[in-house]
Amino acid sequence: MLKQKHTNPNIMQRPRQMQRLLFLLLAQLLKVVFCDTNEGPEHERRHGGPTLGHWTYTDQDWKKDFQQCEGKSQSPINIETSKTMFNKNLPKIILEGYSLPETTSLNLTNNGHTVKLTLPDSMSISSGFSQKYLAAQLHFHWGSVSSSGSEHTVDGTRYAAEMHVVHYAAKYGSLSTAALEADGLAVLAVLFQVGPNDNKNYNHIFDKLQDVSEEGVIVQIPGFDVNTLLPRQLYRFFRYNGSLTTPPCFQTVTWTVFNDTIQLSKAQLHKLETNLKTGHHTLDSNFRFVQPLNGRKVFASFSATLASRRMVTKEDTAESGGDDKSGSELREPNAYSTHSGDTLAIIFGILFGCTVLVFVIYVLRQRKRRSLNTESGQKVIYKPTTTMEA
Ligand SMILES: [Zn+2]
Repeated sequence: MLKQKHTNPNIMQRPRQMQRLLFLLLAQLLKVVFCDTNEGPEHERRHGGPTLGHWTYTDQDWKKDFQQCEGKSQSPINIETSKTMFNKNLPKIILEGYSLPETTSLNLTNNGHTVKLTLPDSMSISSGFSQKYLAAQLHFHWGSVSSSGSEHTVDGTRYAAEMHVVHYAAKYGSLSTAALEADGLAVLAVLFQVGPNDNKNYNHIFDKLQDVSEEGVIVQIPGFDVNTLLPRQLYRFFRYNGSLTTPPCFQTVTWTVFNDTIQLSKAQLHKLETNLKTGHHTLDSNFRFVQPLNGRKVFASFSATLASRRMVTKEDTAESGGDDKSGSELREPNAYSTHSGDTLAIIFGILFGCTVLVFVIYVLRQRKRRSLNTESGQKVIYKPTTTMEA
């Protein structure tokens, strides 16, 4: 009966189906947007917060237990220098209170994922962002005795190791509260390369690594000038919005990856790579794989495509102070040399290929000419190589 009333039921139903489809699509979109921006404390409770959930670097399928780890703004990333956007308006980073008196006592701990040095909130980034960020801790990511282990890569190059100095927005009062807010965290990242000498600035920490080899152990070390762990030139850096590189992967980190790298000796890196344990195993290769950019922009505070990556020598770090004629004393980093070598190899390869091609064409043409000459019964005249130069 109903069918008789509606002469063409399909036409009547189609708009309703379309509406339902659109509604479902919109609901899904809202869900995605909402989950990606901020899941709030409820999410943290569900997943036990940053310290309770069990996860490892060998199985990085963290999204099973930590939903945000499959978000669209994850870290670390590969920084493609040719695609970075030069932004001359990025404010210079100024650090305050980084020179700690020896009377300060700092906790160094092996938490099973990294070695972490707790920092007092008297240390801060006073300029560089639109708000003040207070220091909380610094920690390291490294590879193994046979492989590099930085988290961020630059133009596909993975550096020997990486240090993160974690700060939280002062207005949120604590690291755990700030970690849930979109503008909550600011992390300064330093990339390491292998150098010929020990970097004594790092001995404050590395001399104590043996003491924290067991997971869960905490030792105390006296305060020192933390500026000396950073490159002296803080105005060359990459900036992007990303996440914690460990579960729960909150997407609340404004990343600053310094362009200038720091040198550590092989022996110092060896200490990092072999001294610490997670359970009964050596704690090594504690870096997360690079994550897709998903359209995010990476800004550079300098013209990244024109400047070569710089390796900072011991003399070039903050401790030496004074002399700032940096540029001329700098050595080309390994990564840069490797790239130059690759470029040369490609150029020579192309030139060689072209020469071979020209020669083959010449030989073929000569053969053709010869066969034509033979067919027409003319005498074949062999011309020596001089013709090729014509
Ligand atoms: Zn880290």
